[in-house]
Amino acid sequence: MSSTPIKRSSDGDGSAEKRLKTEDQEQAKPVYDLGVVLLKNNRGDVVTHVPLVNFKTYASSVVKDLKTQILGEYNLTIYTYKSGPLLINPDIRTWANWLVKRDIRTALRGELMSTYHASRALWVAQKLGDVDYQDALIDFLFVHLQNKNDPAKLDIPRFRHLMSLGWACGLHIIPEALILHHDAKAAATGHYDHETRQRVEKIAFKHFSAPDECPKDPLSLSTEEFCKTYHQHHTKDLPCYKTQKLPGTSE
Ligand SMILES: [Zn+2]
Repeated sequence: MSSTPIKRSSDGDGSAEKRLKTEDQEQAKPVYDLGVVLLKNNRGDVVTHVPLVNFKTYASSVVKDLKTQILGEYNLTIYTYKSGPLLINPDIRTWANWLVKRDIRTALRGELMSTYHASRALWVAQKLGDVDYQDALIDFLFVHLQNKNDPAKLDIPRFRHLMSLGWACGLHIIPEALILHHDAKAAATGHYDHETRQRVEKIAFKHFSAPDECPKDPLSLSTEEFCKTYHQHHTKDLPCYKTQKLPGTSE
């Protein structure tokens, strides 16, 4: 990132005025923009930093939570983002990696232990309220759960492992829809926890009473349909991180 300070005070067309400036005025403290956002944990310790432009562009759903602070004799503008409780420093670093690299696989540091890391990161994304991050992780986990030989089928052992971790709530209704369409028998015979089974039962009734309202098999949806049904950016009226399309537009 650039370390060159950007003078923030507007010069406009004031070149004539500038020439009239005395030495004293020259010393009137300008405001410099450091161009980074310091990401802090809930105790207020700085964990890492990301370029301001990345934060504003890619974390647009949480820009409102950015704090600015004018500091020191040069009036440096410091941008900080303080995360809430429960998030540990590695959670914040993974998020920062995503904001900088924009590649969820790289941000999660490869595929090793990805079910655990990705599902925890998804829970973190929800806590942060960053919908782009949530959607990227939903996509990542979804691909991870597809059977490698037949993407229309569910990788049942992986899926059950994910469900046992207890962070699948970040996937909204996807797990229930997947169970209904791919693992209903196991749910009926007591697999999965009580709350999950109840939610599956509920949508199973819909399956018969109002088939149009019942969630379709997520594995059968096109990219557009999947975005429309399961991505979270719609809730904040923001464009899709993947297609850059705004909700409700087809072009
Ligand atoms: Zn989308």
